[in-house]
Amino acid sequence: MLTETHLTQTERDAIDSIPHGLFIDGDWRPGTDTMPVIDPATGERLRTVADASPDDGLRALTAAAAAQADWARTPPRQRSDILLRAHRLLLDDVERLALVMTLEMGKPLAEARGEVAYAAEFLRWFAEEAVRLDGGYMHAPTGGSRFLVTRQPVGPSLLITPWNFPMAMGARKIGPALAAGCTCVVKPAEQTPLSMLALAEVLHRAGAPAGVVNVVTTSDPAALIEPVIADGRARKLSFTGSTAVGKLLLEQCARTVMRTSMELGGNAPFLVFDDADLDAAVDGAMLAKMRNIGQACTAANRILVQRGIADAFATRLADRMAALPMGRGTEPGVVVGPLIDADAVAKVTELVADARRRGATAVTGGEPHPGPGNFYPATVLTDVPADAPIGHTEIFGPVAALSVFDTEVEAVTRANDTPYGLVSYVYTENLRRGLRVSEALDTGMVGLNQGVVSDPAAPFGGVKESGLGREGGLVGIDEFLETKYIRVAL
Ligand code: NAD
Repeated sequence: MLTETHLTQTERDAIDSIPHGLFIDGDWRPGTDTMPVIDPATGERLRTVADASPDDGLRALTAAAAAQADWARTPPRQRSDILLRAHRLLLDDVERLALVMTLEMGKPLAEARGEVAYAAEFLRWFAEEAVRLDGGYMHAPTGGSRFLVTRQPVGPSLLITPWNFPMAMGARKIGPALAAGCTCVVKPAEQTPLSMLALAEVLHRAGAPAGVVNVVTTSDPAALIEPVIADGRARKLSFTGSTAVGKLLLEQCARTVMRTSMELGGNAPFLVFDDADLDAAVDGAMLAKMRNIGQACTAANRILVQRGIADAFATRLADRMAALPMGRGTEPGVVVGPLIDADAVAKVTELVADARRRGATAVTGGEPHPGPGNFYPATVLTDVPADAPIGHTEIFGPVAALSVFDTEVEAVTRANDTPYGLVSYVYTENLRRGLRVSEALDTGMVGLNQGVVSDPAAPFGGVKESGLGREGGLVGIDEFLETKYIRVAL
């Protein structure tokens, strides 16, 4: 039996202000059951929300399918205005929404505020894109005919999001879907339903018509999603989550040839060359490692440092990491909040213990926190052997795993030695080297002397097993559009 977590009155009010039903066809409805939302800082229950059955999932799909034709006909300017209103509503309510996010997910309040603003910016960016959908007109090369090329919404879209950025990953999909004229069924991660329910309410208040956005929360995603995909009325799946689940969903989508966008796992290399600005490299590593308590697909998973500055870099990074306050994300100044659950702590604990058994040294941290809550202290490991699982697995925790390289060729070869290809980071003051290495890295994104690459205005996404397609930027809306060509006889 889960006990109720202890909250201040402000925290309780914020949690209780979020609707707890399924949002289907413009209404809040009870689920078939309820499921708990757990506070990762205490392991106790924050509240319960509706637990949708597979039939609830199909009801949401029916609502999205029924609303599709009208929404596609809604003038782009009206679609844009709804997104702009939602952008403003999010920003006006940032304190309440950030508090809810911190309580259900654990990230420090400052980062949660940043995520609400980041989510809002996706809505604004795609509001601006909604009115700029273009097409083409050309003469057939053989003469006689003209070609009209237009772009149409792909149709009802299924959007599945992870717990680590519980609002922004939703906005990054809902924004372009709505801008393109697609209705949607959104399924947030079971650990963090509240931020998505809050976003659904904001979009409703902003004027999204009934059925355009539907949100179903469930404790059994596999049972709910498979029939929704198999049904055939959803014409698009946009998924953000682990590579393992992404592969499973790709198989299911193959059966109906459903269009997919896949934002999957990462194993980002962070390369620091001898000629790097050491202060900038340490700052960048802190950002790339510690954003979201290390629980980001873009997190620096392998930090490779050239031999000449390896000791200085490790010392400075360890000093900074050791000084980071750990605690509940709502406490002022905290940077190291709790990990999402006990399994995450167990995974990080085993990866670190294994690396140490293989010869790595813990310069700071290295042992799990006794609890309560799912805490793991900021850790720096040096001399991590190349074959250690920590270099091949998403750590998803506050652990910097360092190793040394000698040459540029070795650095690039080791960086690319992974099935993942989301992002990499390169620190060097030599522009020619920076560009040469950036081009040689097998990742969809590179941070060149930058520890963060995410930006609603930039195309985000990976290659290899990190995914298919891009979100954000000028191309993000394309994921929700089909190109249609009309041949006109003259
Ligand atoms: P996850 O794959 O376990 O879950 C992601 C979503 O899929 C959740 O909503 C979950 O309920 C749902 N899901 C799980 N099993 C399913 C099934 N059988 N059928 C249908 N849906 C199912 O991932 P997670 O633990 O929530 O998130 C962490 C992962 O997400 C990491 O691998 C991280 O790298 C990745 N991620 C990637 C990006 C990106 O943009 N590339 C961004 C954030 C997170």
